[in-house]
Amino acid sequence: MLRVAVVGSGPSGCYTAQSLVQLDNDVCVDVLDRLPCPYGLVRYGVAPDHEKIKSLQNNLRTVLEHERVRFLGGVRIGPDGVPGARLRELYHAVVYCVGAATDRHLGIPGEELPGSWSATEFVSWYSGHPDFPEHERNGAPDHDGFVAGANSAVVIGVGNVAVDVTRMLARGATELSPTDIPQGALTALAASRVTDVDMVGRRGPSQARFTTKELRELGSLPDTEVTVDARELELDPAYADPSGLPAPQRRNVEVLRGWAEAPPRAARHRIRLRFFLRPVELLAEAGRVGAVRFERTVPDGRGGVTGTGRYEDIAAQLVLRSVGYRGVPLEGLPFDAASGTVPHLGGRVLREGAVSPGEYVAGWIKRGPTGVIGTNRPCAKETVTSLLEDAAALARRELPGDPLTALRADGVEPVEWPGWQSIERAEAQLGASLGRGVVKLPDWQSLMNAVHGSAH
Ligand SMILES: Cc1cc2nc3c(=O)[nH]c(=O)nc-3n(C[C@H](O)[C@H](O)[C@H](O)COP(=O)(O)OP(=O)(O)OC[C@H]3O[C@@H](n4cnc5c(N)ncnc54)[C@H](O)[C@@H]3O)c2cc1C
Repeated sequence: MLRVAVVGSGPSGCYTAQSLVQLDNDVCVDVLDRLPCPYGLVRYGVAPDHEKIKSLQNNLRTVLEHERVRFLGGVRIGPDGVPGARLRELYHAVVYCVGAATDRHLGIPGEELPGSWSATEFVSWYSGHPDFPEHERNGAPDHDGFVAGANSAVVIGVGNVAVDVTRMLARGATELSPTDIPQGALTALAASRVTDVDMVGRRGPSQARFTTKELRELGSLPDTEVTVDARELELDPAYADPSGLPAPQRRNVEVLRGWAEAPPRAARHRIRLRFFLRPVELLAEAGRVGAVRFERTVPDGRGGVTGTGRYEDIAAQLVLRSVGYRGVPLEGLPFDAASGTVPHLGGRVLREGAVSPGEYVAGWIKRGPTGVIGTNRPCAKETVTSLLEDAAALARRELPGDPLTALRADGVEPVEWPGWQSIERAEAQLGASLGRGVVKLPDWQSLMNAVHGSAH
């Protein structure tokens, strides 16, 4: 029997486990995650109001409940947990599916001012990620719940995550209450006085990375007006004649044109989509962010933009920076800092250009933070195909016995599937006590209390 460790229980980890047990009857898989909860960004990234996408967790659940798959939560792989080398001793093969966990920085003055956050921080807060409890920031108490004291926000970036956070700022309690959003985040967003959100891109509308479905959804939010300045759209050479654009970008431009031409209407929330503005500085006011200074850009004729030396300040007491994710190196694994990925050949990890036997990657850490959840399925399958080609050679090595026994002997106490099910029950009970559906437990203490069956 080939024993495989999959590190990470997000989509790529689950799809890897699924392909392994589907393609080979002689494989058993342990899916390890540093969190006691499975599903990676499907649980802790996909916005709570996207319930259909979130329900993908049910598909991933069937993988983790397969008789030859074990979920081992609460196990961090790396120098401050179980070293990768130890995993290699305990398993014939290890597949790293650890995602891309860090934001890119803007690298401009004022980025660290209070009130300026990465989109990841905001997403983690409303998703109830236990590393980011609602009352703490960088280990220090912070009770402002992001939105307190703010009436306008700037979202820097024009990808789908930027659209998510913009939409969440415009959602009201009625729409969020039926979701699994933690109670603290729900209360804060329900009390929010943020009425104006500017979502700003440094390039043109035809280069924006959001998808049309997500973009259009902004226009269907209750009591919300979406505006676009036609003069900014016209700076884009593709705006006058979008027929040469690929279909997704053409559709985006058409949606934006519709908003630019729509007559103004009164609404509680205003979302303004802005283009050709490059952030150069976050400006302080009374000790926190008060505005973002942008430089007007224009197309440079080569697909990029160039600054014009003209500036515009947009007032905002909340700034969310959403300019992309990047992988973080896992000590002991090779890492290409330029792409933020692990070098590989068809999923086989490369060390100094040579295949490292028994080590594989899949998902965002393999190909970078691109694509939708489904993109991770063929990505995982490619890796599994490589692994199964190597299986005969890998299986020759005798293992010390059941890895779970060895991990316990090392002092590691994984959260197994029944532990996760206890968390699910506790979240259902919490929701019932609040008159809501399932409500997420947002901190380590209450998650671990649930695992151990105590009151939270
Ligand atoms: C904010 C946001 C919203 C998104 N919304 C959508 C959407 O609506 N629709 C869509 O199709 N796609 C969406 N995506 C993209 C989608 O989430 C990704 O394609 C997908 O999650 C990538 O899968 P992954 O398994 O590679 O990484 P992840 O989902 O990040 O999973 C990685 C897992 O590895 C674990 N891990 C990390 N390091 C370690 C370690 N050292 N030891 C043990 N475990 C570790 C993590 O805890 C995590 O569970 C969104 C992405 C983001 C960031």
